[in-house]
Amino acid sequence: MHTDAQPTAPVIEFRDVEKQFDDKTVLKDLSFTVERGERVTLIGPSGSGKTTILRLVMTLAELTGGYIFIGGEPLVYEQRNGKRVPVSKRQQKQLTTRIGMVFQQFNLFPNMTVLENIIEAPIHVLGIAKRDAIERAHQLLEQVGLPDKADSHPTALSGGQQQRVAIARALAMDPEILLLDEVTSALDPEVVVDVLQVLRDVAATTDVTMLIVTHEMSFARDVSHRVMMLDGGKIIESADPETIFTNPSHERTQQFLSAVL
Ligand code: ADP
Repeated sequence: MHTDAQPTAPVIEFRDVEKQFDDKTVLKDLSFTVERGERVTLIGPSGSGKTTILRLVMTLAELTGGYIFIGGEPLVYEQRNGKRVPVSKRQQKQLTTRIGMVFQQFNLFPNMTVLENIIEAPIHVLGIAKRDAIERAHQLLEQVGLPDKADSHPTALSGGQQQRVAIARALAMDPEILLLDEVTSALDPEVVVDVLQVLRDVAATTDVTMLIVTHEMSFARDVSHRVMMLDGGKIIESADPETIFTNPSHERTQQFLSAVL
């Protein structure tokens, strides 16, 4: 676990976040926090802004308004003398190094072996010794059920296997925050359960904070501490999974769930 200047601050805070693509406002006045060790799932109709939220945390999308804090530290902009000013690229990089992301489309480096994919960032970003990175990579491959695939190339693996490698690669950075963006949406139905089992194990055995976008409602229900329902770029309901799935207070949540469950 990395050191943190403000251990009591939320791990993630969105404060009055706004996101525009050209002249289209996708997120407006969005504020929420995620506490250390919390697993929060974003649900809601397609286009409601779920993936955009994850991409903003990872600084893969430009923040057009408001503030995001990671462990209490401003990620992209900070307020100084009443003005909204960008933070240094160095600080931004330091903070995003603490965040791992797994994408719908795996995004493995196709020209590298599985092992090389996993050790790349720990060696070049964290400065971990190669032999230690390799040892950890083998442990992680064991953990995700692929102990004999270290020397394979991603193209030789099934989608489910590639996604398990992507999870191992994210965990190799020992992240404080793991962002999961529809990680099973591109997979054949029969391997979805394997990938979700790996993630259930990660949830059960680590205290990594997770922000999850998924259409797998039973997974969301089992692993989340909290579920946030988005609609039109706003959080319309945020509650424990039991409440959201059995007794949602918002009619829009009921409609959404009856369509997907
Ligand atoms: P969700 O994950 O809930 O399906 P997204 O965050 O992917 O929603 O998208 C929210 C809205 O932002 C959608 O209307 C989408 O069309 C728009 N959007 C997302 N990415 C871009 C982009 N790169 N350029 C323009 N519009 C985008």
